[in-house]
Amino acid sequence: MSLELLKDYLVETPQPIIGAKTVQIILFREVMDYTVLRTEETRELNTAVTPRSISQNDEIRRVAFLGTKQKAVESRKMERILRTAGEAAGRGELVCYLKDNLCLTCPRCALFGGTNVDSSSEKKANIKHRIVYGTAFSLLPFEDVEASITFNAINDQTQKTGQALGNRYAVRPATLFPSIVTLKSVTQGELVLTLKTLLAAKNYGAETRIGGDLRNTIVGFVAGWEEVITPLELTLELYDRHAELSGETVATILKQYQTYAGNPQQVKVFTPDEVDKVVEEAANTLLDKVFLERVYSDVAQYREQQKG
Ligand SMILES: [Zn+2]
Repeated sequence: MSLELLKDYLVETPQPIIGAKTVQIILFREVMDYTVLRTEETRELNTAVTPRSISQNDEIRRVAFLGTKQKAVESRKMERILRTAGEAAGRGELVCYLKDNLCLTCPRCALFGGTNVDSSSEKKANIKHRIVYGTAFSLLPFEDVEASITFNAINDQTQKTGQALGNRYAVRPATLFPSIVTLKSVTQGELVLTLKTLLAAKNYGAETRIGGDLRNTIVGFVAGWEEVITPLELTLELYDRHAELSGETVATILKQYQTYAGNPQQVKVFTPDEVDKVVEEAANTLLDKVFLERVYSDVAQYREQQKG
């Protein structure tokens, strides 16, 4: 049971008032197709000015993969996985309409949080999120990862390709975003659901017609009583070692940040071998009736505690 390796940093059941137990999942988000990373209003890619690396202080521009965008895709993905697994396990249809009408009874809602003004009997309900996203910064500078692509505009009514050609700024395939997803006071079931979601999520395109394919590879875990490293620090550290990108390199960086922690004795950096075993076990965990009963009843008791 490799998941047991994390047990000191997980809780038995989710609680409305959270403690310090923190698991940071370190992942590489690798772009597999031209991907538009921008906010809706602009045609430009989201970028940020940062130092080149930890050792080189000259400023460069990097593409920013906003945490809100990662979260939106992965929250939706987890909801779909839960819905399909629920149907397969004969739990009936459990519908959680994201944004407009959150159910606040499913593991997705318990983890990602949300508010809901119930029109029937209950008063306003609120669940605080226990999954935290941060903006990921491209490993390489903007100039090295950006591409302008021309496309045929498609008329939405006729579905025919129009004459108008448009331009989009996109991120090239093979662009790498070192990234971190942080879990606070979560259960083993919630960790499993998160890892499955990260492995399964593939499409992050702003416009569905244009690429947006990514692959997430989990390359590290660091657990403790606090967040040990931020996504920007991770990118700046990895830039200095970008010839040797590996789980080993990530673990070396995490070990170093352990010494900067407020509670270094509580920090555990996982070896690449341990990381692989945990990820494998999570991926192979069946979302069967027993698993689903457990995670749904956890949410039910959480809501009970809130009322009490
Ligand atoms: Zn829900």
